[in-house]
Amino acid sequence: MKLLIIGVGGFIGSNLVKYLTERGEHEIVGIDITDDKLRGISGPNFTYIDADITAAPELADKLISECDVVVDLIAYANPSIYVKSPLDVVRLNFFENIRIAEMCMKHGKRLFQYSTSEVYGKSGHTGAYNEDHTDLIMGPSTKQRWIYASGKQYLERIIHAHGLRGDIEYTIVRPFNFVGPRFDYLVQAETLGGPRVFAHFMSALITGGPMYLVDGGNQRRSFTHIDDASAAFTTLIDNPAAINQIYNIGNPETDTSIRDLATYMMSLYEEITGVEPRNELIEISGEEFYGKGYEDMDRVPPDISKLQALGWQPIRDKRKTFSDAIEYNLDPEVHASIL
Ligand code: UDP
Repeated sequence: MKLLIIGVGGFIGSNLVKYLTERGEHEIVGIDITDDKLRGISGPNFTYIDADITAAPELADKLISECDVVVDLIAYANPSIYVKSPLDVVRLNFFENIRIAEMCMKHGKRLFQYSTSEVYGKSGHTGAYNEDHTDLIMGPSTKQRWIYASGKQYLERIIHAHGLRGDIEYTIVRPFNFVGPRFDYLVQAETLGGPRVFAHFMSALITGGPMYLVDGGNQRRSFTHIDDASAAFTTLIDNPAAINQIYNIGNPETDTSIRDLATYMMSLYEEITGVEPRNELIEISGEEFYGKGYEDMDRVPPDISKLQALGWQPIRDKRKTFSDAIEYNLDPEVHASIL
């Protein structure tokens, strides 16, 4: 199959290309505005195009006309950006993605759309979040953090509506906190509201700075090894049953509070490096950390039975998930910029 991966230079795209080039699976054309994370990743089945798709709609149209499946990864995905630049988030994550969906319809191409587990919103549920039954509950409009989740939710609903009408074949996936090599970026000690939690805690381990527990750190997340996520992609892309369906990609076994994640990462770091971390754990309010307009999700537990029914299973446990990600960041080339 010929895949066009839009936003290939990010965390999910670069790991997906690594996974597919190592296995020689599919012919891949990838496009992005940066290929930093693609360094060292290559294969005869992969071509990279350096271009800004938002500024080159004719190029996007041409590339879409030439592929079999469009994999759409473009999005701002950090809560700090939703709070500080909500209109940029909606412009890129909603309007640009709609444009890509429309081009897929024009050329009769299948769309593989990355959405987010954030569409589930604020927990109003007990039990795990299910793709086809769980209500999606957003916070107030005046808390602009939800512009990301509601934009993705509306995108999903529009693609689904076109699917109902027979305009498009789609598969939508909702990632649950993927983690692994090439994740986000590291930051200086005491930086507030930068990348996502793993990268903040990893930066603290390297710099010796504090680990901030936003609103006490009792909120829970489960984390998915990026290679399990790439394996989920191949399960879905190869399976006709996945057409016009939505899937969670997650690993419920890794569920943890953010406070426990901080101490877990400290102990894993000590095991890997032999150096005992002495990071201070500091509680901080969400607004102080991210800015006014931040709200959080208390829990984001995935129901993965729908994807398991297609034969996929997350096979990398919590230890493997975090040790792979920590070890990658210990490479001096990766963290040189923050020291
Ligand atoms: N968080 C934290 N300390 C940090 C960064 C994040 O306590 O240094 C919290 C954040 O408020 C959220 C959780 O960790 O409750 C996960 O945040 P992240 O940005 O990784 O992803 P999210 O799942 O919220 O998109």
